[in-house]
Amino acid sequence: MRRMIREAMEDRSSPEAFRFSLNCAVCGAAWISRTSRFSKAGVTPESEGKRIIFQKLYEREWEEARERAVTDAMETFNLCPICRRLVCNRCFLLGEDIDLCADCARNLQERGEPVTPKEESG
Ligand SMILES: [Zn+2]
Ligand SMILES: [Zn+2]
Repeated sequence: MRRMIREAMEDRSSPEAFRFSLNCAVCGAAWISRTSRFSKAGVTPESEGKRIIFQKLYEREWEEARERAVTDAMETFNLCPICRRLVCNRCFLLGEDIDLCADCARNLQERGEPVTPKEESG
C-alpha cells in the first residue's frame, strides 16, 4: 500500500518547502500533507560546490518528507480490495463480509458503516 500511495501522491513542493497531496478516488476530496521546510530555504549557496550540496540535500529531504507524508496518508486512506483504488475514511465502509469502498458497496450491494461516520446535521 505504501508504494501505491507514493505513486498516486502529487508533489506540491516548492524550492523552500515540501508538500504532497492525494485525492480520494470516490469523492475526489484532496488530502494535503503537512508542510515541512527545506533546511536551506532562503540560503544562497556561496559557491558552486555548495550549490551542488544544497541540491543533494534538497533531494534527500524531499524523499524524507515524502515518506512522512505516505505514513500520514495511510491513516486517512484505505485500499479497496475490490477496485484497488485509494479511498478516504469517509468513503470506505466496514462491510459485513469485507471492507470496501462506497462505490463497490453500491455495485455489489454490500452493507457497511463508514470508517468515519458522516457528521450529523442539527
Ligand atoms: Zn472520499
Ligand atoms: Zn472499490
